[in-house]
Amino acid sequence: MSSSSSRISGFFRLPPAERRRRLLALTTLSAERFTAVDPGALPLDVADGMIENVVGVYALPFAVAVNFTIDGDDALVPMVVEEASIVAAASNAARMARPGGFHTVVSAPVMIGQIQVTDIDDVDAAADVLRARAEELLGDARRLMPRLAERGGGPIALDVRPLARSGPDGGMLVVHLHVDCRDAMGANLINTLCEALATRIADLAEGRPGLRILSNLTDGRTVTVRCTIDDARLTDEIAAGPAVRAAIAAASRFAELDPYRAATHNKGIMNGVDAVLVATGQDWRAVEAGAHAFAARSGAYRPLAVWHERSGGLDGELVMPLAVGTVGGALHVHPGARLALDLAGAHAADRLAAIAGAAGLATNLAALRALATEGIQRGHMALHARGLARAAGATGELIDRVADELAATGDIKADRAREVFARLCSPYMVKNTP
Ligand code: NAD
Repeated sequence: MSSSSSRISGFFRLPPAERRRRLLALTTLSAERFTAVDPGALPLDVADGMIENVVGVYALPFAVAVNFTIDGDDALVPMVVEEASIVAAASNAARMARPGGFHTVVSAPVMIGQIQVTDIDDVDAAADVLRARAEELLGDARRLMPRLAERGGGPIALDVRPLARSGPDGGMLVVHLHVDCRDAMGANLINTLCEALATRIADLAEGRPGLRILSNLTDGRTVTVRCTIDDARLTDEIAAGPAVRAAIAAASRFAELDPYRAATHNKGIMNGVDAVLVATGQDWRAVEAGAHAFAARSGAYRPLAVWHERSGGLDGELVMPLAVGTVGGALHVHPGARLALDLAGAHAADRLAAIAGAAGLATNLAALRALATEGIQRGHMALHARGLARAAGATGELIDRVADELAATGDIKADRAREVFARLCSPYMVKNTP
């Protein structure tokens, strides 16, 4: 999308139809494309073809986070999530990160396929044989995926990791096949390759073929996202920029020292990442598994993103594995996911990884800033109060009036919302009755 166009002031105040109009004006999409995210848009027969035992279609809100600049280009960031405050947090943090925005380095899309071999008498000798035949085995693998090779991808390396010399499974090793998956997430194509090579590899190792499947610890397929936030952008009515900066850096150090805090810190990152992944039809369980395994790769569970103070501002850096695809998986059947990719302008896997990673660093920043200043509860509770007001039956301006009263008393509960609504409602009913 064109430069600076994702900065949409007051987007959150508009009704959904007007938000669609604003997005249409910023993109080349036709209005009909948005029917893909209308309530009831996914036909039952399509859903029935996606998974087993389908009895219906489950809806979640589809939103767009604004204000993102990623690698010099503005991006609309589609998000699907059930938790209030994530889209607002991402948009606010992206605004703080402007005008520089987020800068990313996306690695080559290299995934690992694992071929396990068990019941080997001499694991070290078997490993030597397999290493000596690595080029030949890679050649076999490449011939199995000619189309991927034509696209510039395909198997690129093979290594051997002895795992046990003896034990209940005998001598055991695993062969890692490293495959550049281009714009595919790659699970199915890696699994196909592993299946095809397993017997030959087990024969060479004089063992039995075991599991053959990709690893979700995709440490060869990572995204690094960086941003710089000036003190002026951190300042609010509660705290001055330098104090907020110091508190965020201290919160980051806390996460580096304590796995209990690091888990929550990383959850704040996955708030943004997962919302983009769900919107764009990705396998978010695969990314979750990879993210947490990567966070623990040193033996201690660590934060995926860290924040450091520098003179006049704050530097943030996120490094995490992100196996995503803009082809394959559910994308060929899910119109909402296709719309999300088009809205984001993510037509290649590396751009999608950059966008999901930037969303993750943004929600991490927003959470740390809220924790560091006003306390996360206040912001959450204001949104929660609006949700309760709606659930109690409030519409239009009554939502704000009920929510404001709940927030003012600090008693933010469903029965209290019903009470306040009933009281505020009566003069309205009288006034509006013909
Ligand atoms: P896929 O099976 O649809 O394969 C991708 C296809 O896209 C290939 O046939 C490839 O030839 C084609 N293609 C077209 N243009 C391409 C391009 N530019 N770059 C690369 N390929 C291109 O999808 P996949 O990505 O192999 O597998 C993803 C699916 O596997 C997801 O649905 C995931 O949920 C599932 N899965 C995951 C796991 C796991 O994570 N453990 C295990 C099994 C299956």
